[in-house]
Amino acid sequence: MEYDVVIVGGGPGGLKAAEILAKNGKKVIVLEKDKVIGDKVCAGGLMRKNLRYIPKELSEKEFSDVMFVTNKKKTVLKFKKNFCYTVQRIKLGEYLMENAKKAGAEIKTNAKVTEVTVNHVVACNKKYNFQHLIGADGPSSIVRKYLNLPSEKIGLGIQYITTKIFKDIEFHLDTKRFGSWYAWVFPHDDYTAIGIGGIVSSSRGMKRALDDWCRNDLKIEIEKTRFEGALLNSDYRGYKFKNIFLVGDAAGLTSTFSGEGIYQALVSGEEVGKKILDPKYKYPKLKKVIFRHRIQDKIADTLRFNPKINQFLYNIGTHLFKIGFIREFVFFKILT
Ligand SMILES: Cc1cc2nc3c(=O)[nH]c(=O)nc-3n(C[C@H](O)[C@H](O)[C@H](O)COP(=O)(O)OP(=O)(O)OC[C@H]3O[C@@H](n4cnc5c(N)ncnc54)[C@H](O)[C@@H]3O)c2cc1C
Repeated sequence: MEYDVVIVGGGPGGLKAAEILAKNGKKVIVLEKDKVIGDKVCAGGLMRKNLRYIPKELSEKEFSDVMFVTNKKKTVLKFKKNFCYTVQRIKLGEYLMENAKKAGAEIKTNAKVTEVTVNHVVACNKKYNFQHLIGADGPSSIVRKYLNLPSEKIGLGIQYITTKIFKDIEFHLDTKRFGSWYAWVFPHDDYTAIGIGGIVSSSRGMKRALDDWCRNDLKIEIEKTRFEGALLNSDYRGYKFKNIFLVGDAAGLTSTFSGEGIYQALVSGEEVGKKILDPKYKYPKLKKVIFRHRIQDKIADTLRFNPKINQFLYNIGTHLFKIGFIREFVFFKILT
């Protein structure tokens, strides 16, 4: 079968690219290995900027007060406008899939891509020829592997999904306990995602730390609670390789700093779509995402090797963030 664009992976990155391309007359297919679109291990936290892509009505909870807990104290920061939202990934997947379908894209589930070549991919023994290929297939991308790109900054996120309802969104910044990343409590309508993340190479002890925190501090019966985990890729090495493009996690655009990756997937999906439509397109939004990714990467690398400095900055940061303009600048211009 002949396509202008074959997209491997039906996550936010792949579906956004499909929508843009199909809307502009390209013959597009999304090949998704899973039976259901959007069934992804994720805490479902969205920073404000995602509202450019995702209607507010799709979100479950909104937060302007955010709790930060360091090894010394608990601070509640009050943001001017809502700081973040939570969304169910299944609902987000349905929404993005409907948009892509309405635009005219073909979506094929239960279609795991097992072979990639310069002009076709194979899924379930069927050959799909392409002019352009987009690898939107997440942290263990087969398209990225075909391109021979190393993935050295692979992260791991693990979490419990508890029916215990928490009121506040919480970020726990305690390097002795949780390592250089943070631990999260993300409340949804009828469940709460509670987890921690870190770079795979330094992830020993992560599960023990999560279990200890959930059991002893949060009083969760972990034996009766759903546990899940997944990888993240933060090793960005470019997005365009002749007629093959990478977006989102496959491109390594997930934040090394926070594990946030939905926004980067949506932006890169949109911008790659536009770049395929017009090779002269300058992709300004993706440039911004890449620039921010590189800054965050440098900060995260420095902090990872200096846990004491890391903790000191977390402690001083939560003090400084009480000052409105510092808080808004750091959170909305640098960190997110
Ligand atoms: C525990 C955890 C918590 C997280 N919490 C947040 C959060 O709160 N906020 C946030 O912004 N980000 C979060 N993330 C990161 C976020 O989930 C990802 O960055 C985001 O989903 C990336 O989107 P994507 O479209 O690039 O890839 P994905 O969403 O991973 O989609 C890739 C798709 O490709 C499919 N696929 C893979 N291989 C193949 C193949 N060979 N053939 C066909 N299909 C294939 C997969 O089934 C999947 O559907 C979290 C991640 C983890 C692990």
